Amino acid sequence: MVELGQLAIQYLELDEIWSRGASTLYDGIANSRLGYPWLIGTLSRVGIEHATMTRFARVRLRSPSGEIKPGARAAFVGSLGRSLARATMADIDPDQGPCVESELESFVLAGGEFGPDLFLGTAGVVAGLAQLVGRYPVAGPLLDQAIDELYAQLEPGIGQAERRVLGLAHGLAGQAVALEVGHRRRPCPFIEAFRAWTYELVCASVVDDADGRPLWPHAVGGIAAFQGWCNGTPGMVHGFALAAALSGDRRYRALTERGLELMGRFDFTRESMNDTLCCGALGVAEAYLNAFRLDRDPDHLERARAIVASVDPLAMAADNHADEIASLHRGLLGWIYVGCECEAVDELPPVGLDLWPVVAAQ
Ligand SMILES: [Zn+2]
Repeated sequence: MVELGQLAIQYLELDEIWSRGASTLYDGIANSRLGYPWLIGTLSRVGIEHATMTRFARVRLRSPSGEIKPGARAAFVGSLGRSLARATMADIDPDQGPCVESELESFVLAGGEFGPDLFLGTAGVVAGLAQLVGRYPVAGPLLDQAIDELYAQLEPGIGQAERRVLGLAHGLAGQAVALEVGHRRRPCPFIEAFRAWTYELVCASVVDDADGRPLWPHAVGGIAAFQGWCNGTPGMVHGFALAAALSGDRRYRALTERGLELMGRFDFTRESMNDTLCCGALGVAEAYLNAFRLDRDPDHLERARAIVASVDPLAMAADNHADEIASLHRGLLGWIYVGCECEAVDELPPVGLDLWPVVAAQ
């Protein structure tokens, strides 16, 4: 861990230099410069701290983070990302706490053009606020409103399978996470219908990819295109493992196991996909880490470690566009964080989804 921490410091300093002055994509922790303070605050939990990094992170929180994506309200992409990044920093920088409170007081819940989407929409608002509510009571009423909005968005779609998006970032797996988070706080009247329908639909959605390998497609009736954290089988394993832990429901566990079986037949090497956390190898590692959190199978932890070890950060940096290198989901910060997560899987949360402690507190 110490070695990895030193490496993290080295690359974070490089990252700061490389990204200075460059624009970044979209507000939120996933694609903007806000990934940096989120990462610094989160790594401080396991003793990886460095005064220079903390200072850089404070600078990032004071400056514009990236282009605003109109209508996005979540923590991954949207204004909630800044509050989540500040909250992770609050232990090493107490000035951040009051800023989180004032941001939440002016947080505008209204909107919703992205629907029940974990990356951009209401599911992401629920997941983001759930990570803040224990520490900032002002988040409570907002979370209750967001949960009600999520229920209103999801209920009419139950039973409608056509072209349904299935993955974590924009589809059913991400919605399952948010719905189970919501249900623990405000019992969901259609929870049983949602679980049963999700199980049946996802079980029936396996298709062969171009090479004849069975996988989950991005949407019902679609083809199995690239397989990543955002779309495809790995992200679905990631989401259903967390939903299983949140609910204790055997159907989410069965979906996790089915997804792992499908992933076992797929070759997740650098040759077959890019390296990023969002759409590539690091996202697959992230999925194996969540599977390990659920089933404690050491093989899943080993697979995650092997994938991280296969990523060459310098090659990844060379592949990155200048405006992506400073991000968690498309840049080197994802490699740093998932590497640290492999060494401290029970102390560090999945990126942007620090919801496992809720499970532990059951
Ligand atoms: Zn992606």
